[in-house]
Amino acid sequence: MTFAQVKFDSGAQGEKHPADESNSVSGLYHELDHWQLNTGGKTIHAKRMDGRFRTIKYFTALTWLGFFLIPYLRWEDRQAVLFDIPGRQFHIFGLTVLPQDFWMLSLTLLFLAITLFAITAFAGRIFCGYFCFQTVWTDAYTWIEQKLEGNPTRRHKLDQEPWGIRKIGIKISKHALWLLIALLTGLSFAAWFADSFQLWHDYFSLQANVAAWIVLALFTGGTYVFAGFMREQVCFWLCPYARIQGVMSDRQTIMPTYDFIRGEPRGKFLKIGRLDGGKTRGDCIECFQCVAVCPTGVDIRVGQQEGCITCGLCIDACNTVMDKIARPRGLIRYASLDAIEGKPQKNILQRPRMVIYLAIMSLALSGIVYGLTHLGALKLQVIHGRQPLFVRLSDGAIQNRYDIKVLNKTGADLLVKISAAGVPGQQIMGADVPLLAQHGRISAYTVYVRVPHENLSSESAPIAFRVESLADGKINATYNSVFMSPRT
Ligand code: SF4
Ligand code: SF4
Repeated sequence: MTFAQVKFDSGAQGEKHPADESNSVSGLYHELDHWQLNTGGKTIHAKRMDGRFRTIKYFTALTWLGFFLIPYLRWEDRQAVLFDIPGRQFHIFGLTVLPQDFWMLSLTLLFLAITLFAITAFAGRIFCGYFCFQTVWTDAYTWIEQKLEGNPTRRHKLDQEPWGIRKIGIKISKHALWLLIALLTGLSFAAWFADSFQLWHDYFSLQANVAAWIVLALFTGGTYVFAGFMREQVCFWLCPYARIQGVMSDRQTIMPTYDFIRGEPRGKFLKIGRLDGGKTRGDCIECFQCVAVCPTGVDIRVGQQEGCITCGLCIDACNTVMDKIARPRGLIRYASLDAIEGKPQKNILQRPRMVIYLAIMSLALSGIVYGLTHLGALKLQVIHGRQPLFVRLSDGAIQNRYDIKVLNKTGADLLVKISAAGVPGQQIMGADVPLLAQHGRISAYTVYVRVPHENLSSESAPIAFRVESLADGKINATYNSVFMSPRT
């Protein structure tokens, strides 16, 4: 039996969807093959049940504390992590990334995108279920809703009650808390792009610039609307990741899956295993608890589908039911379709798409590691002057001109000295006094190198330039160039 057959066995086509009958999950559903489309006709009030995956979800949500706290960490005299867009530089603890290093940012984005593809191919939308901003914030918002308005049944009743003092008080409290979280979210987001302490001061003294106000308004409003009102509709209709996940997963992808072989034919709980009209009943007792807890209103028994964010909450719900009726856990479990149908689960290296993803990830990661280990605090570029390549001075010495560019990636201006080595008897002109290298910028200088003609034995001799901070000799960079001379 396959999922397509389950659809017929369960009589889904043309029938009212089971979720419509649940007292806690409602909405307008249409069926397209075995996919459910939730068009958000009514608010989903999902039930909260304890369980292993609910606990994991709470812990993974805690990782978002970093979003709120990291902007307040300091590193030397500045913010530890600062994406300084006006200054065109990113600071990540001791590392400063300038526009010249943005090839590394591209590689990082490529690495993250392919990692997401690989994770989706391996375990579906697990990122959505446990880490995504939208689902984590929605979970926090509905937690507040449950604390103030009660369980799903009470929430439905409250929604239908006429407006009175009690209902107004509850709704105002809920929306005030939602807005407070939204405001903190907006402030925290903006704090990644400007000095966080200064930013708070600027906002509260109404001195923040227009861009800061726009960012705050967009993120506060967006959080309030997306997490408070649109909820699962964002996952269904706005999120591009949801739209393309179908091409990233396959029958080997491990995600919450209903074991239809064990669960069908389903029926109300009388006695499991009882012969019923000559047919042995499956383990699913049609309690709809898996549907009632689903934050996107999906009935996973109908098959894997777009709306499933792989959160595993239906697994917790069904396991609780199985415990109560003394049946083994795992009627819904993390498994691939092939595994459910008794076919072998391939390892990662037997799946061509995983091999390709891993190869791209390895290449991107190698590039990032190379970049990070070769990111000096100073970068030196030397361009040999043309037209003329050299000049002969009145004393017979040969002189070459060099245009020197020094990129200072540290957070402060530096006094630097430039030197050259490689040609005997050379003299460097134009670098006799320390030069100023402004932080975050390329500083340009012109220097001349003179060499007595008798010291030159060929038309071209290697010459190495070095730039070095006067304050700290470990901050330096070198560049290899050539010294040109006439035929001897
Ligand atoms: S929770 Fe389990 S037993 Fe209840 S309807 Fe869902 S799959 Fe069937
Ligand atoms: S079907 Fe299960 S795993 Fe998928 S979103 Fe609903 S509760 Fe989460």
